Amino acid sequence: MARVDVAVLGAGIIGTSVALHLVKRGLSVTLIDRKPPGEETSFGNAGIIEGNTIFPPSFPTDPISLLRIALKRAPEASYHASFLFTAMPWLLAFRRSARPQWLVENARLIRPLFAAAVPEHEKLMEESDGTRYLRKTGWLKVYRREKTFDGLARERDMAKEFGMRLDVLDTAQARALEPSLNPVFTRGVFWPQAASISSPIGLTRAYVSRLEALGGVLLHGDARTLHRNGEHWRIDTEEGSLDADQVVVTLGPWAPDLLEPLGIKLPLGVKRGYHRHFRAQGNASLSRPVLDADGGYCITPMEQGLRITTGAEIAPRDAPQTPVQFDRVMPNARSLFPLDERADDKTWMGSRPCFPDSRPVIDRAPGQKGLWLAFGHAHWGLTLGPATGRLLGEMMTGVTPFCDPAPYRATRFN
Ligand SMILES: Cc1cc2nc3c(=O)[nH]c(=O)nc-3n(C[C@H](O)[C@H](O)[C@H](O)COP(=O)(O)OP(=O)(O)OC[C@H]3O[C@@H](n4cnc5c(N)ncnc54)[C@H](O)[C@@H]3O)c2cc1C
Repeated sequence: MARVDVAVLGAGIIGTSVALHLVKRGLSVTLIDRKPPGEETSFGNAGIIEGNTIFPPSFPTDPISLLRIALKRAPEASYHASFLFTAMPWLLAFRRSARPQWLVENARLIRPLFAAAVPEHEKLMEESDGTRYLRKTGWLKVYRREKTFDGLARERDMAKEFGMRLDVLDTAQARALEPSLNPVFTRGVFWPQAASISSPIGLTRAYVSRLEALGGVLLHGDARTLHRNGEHWRIDTEEGSLDADQVVVTLGPWAPDLLEPLGIKLPLGVKRGYHRHFRAQGNASLSRPVLDADGGYCITPMEQGLRITTGAEIAPRDAPQTPVQFDRVMPNARSLFPLDERADDKTWMGSRPCFPDSRPVIDRAPGQKGLWLAFGHAHWGLTLGPATGRLLGEMMTGVTPFCDPAPYRATRFN
């Protein structure tokens, strides 16, 4: 019977980062997934390490935006009508988190964790040979409507209050940064301290290689086999049973599949999202991710091509793909950037694991000794992987945490 200090269940960017931080603190660690590492939600994101996040994407409050979403005309969001009744409690709680005062308070609470995002990635990248994926070229957001730009004034003010750099640009200045963009927008905001990566899967694999080089072990198995075995936890893997003193649940959108049978019910929802890759026409190129705020998508240069990622789709996690948002965003994308044909014929879909207040849970599991939780990173799992790994590693080994873990408590929903 194999025995370890910690079993980490789920090898996305969160689980991999947590496992790496624990092994670096001298614990014996096994990382378990039913698939190869990084092949689910962490595979297909927009690659942005958004250390500059202030306000989470929030429930639309103005009636015109709501009407466009309801009529399925909005490029930034979509939904399955048959799922709305089921999702309603989560949607109402999400809506409560859109109050202006809440957004301001939340920004102050989450700042310390987000401020650690880029430096903590850089530390792991340096030791993992992952720096080759890193671009420190910032993030450009463009706005077609003055109203959208004006609506984010409070966010920009808070960014300045936090000492973060941002440059408000006109069309010509934004095009000086990204000459291939067409002048279909009136405003740009450049966030130079954001970073991005050219391959999310490449980076997760690099972190797993580092984990293994430090003595961590990767096993295949189904996390739902987790059960108590006396004082320990036991998981049945393809390589045999494993006993662990402590277990960390990093299953992203699948965390409830394990936790609810253990009596732990947390209000996790999903916002599904899609990507497709495209080639550029001629010599057109991009040096950084670009968010077309009114166009409802993000475009990021990746190893596979130019990745167009869509916004939120409120739909059951396991329902078949319905990538209708591409019909709405592609005319916008083609007007902003000279896209050529598809670079591959696949449409990827992932489910952002989201709590209604858009903060993850990073905490002990209530009522289950030796069980820890790190999931629900919503739009920022790539961003927050290593910072989460450090925070949880410090909490589990009795070191004073580098930031206050209170905003991430599992009991905050009670
Ligand atoms: C379209 C889109 C764009 C995004 N863009 C960005 C971005 O630019 N920047 C950013 O920071 N974030 C972004 N995100 C969010 C980010 O991708 C997620 O927050 C993050 O990947 C979540 O990581 P995770 O490790 O928690 O989950 P996952 O990567 O899903 O990992 C969970 C793991 O658990 C495993 N698992 C599940 N069930 C079981 C089981 N029963 N047994 C064993 N293993 C199991 C899965 O195989 C998986 O490997 C985006 C998301 C989407 C969908």
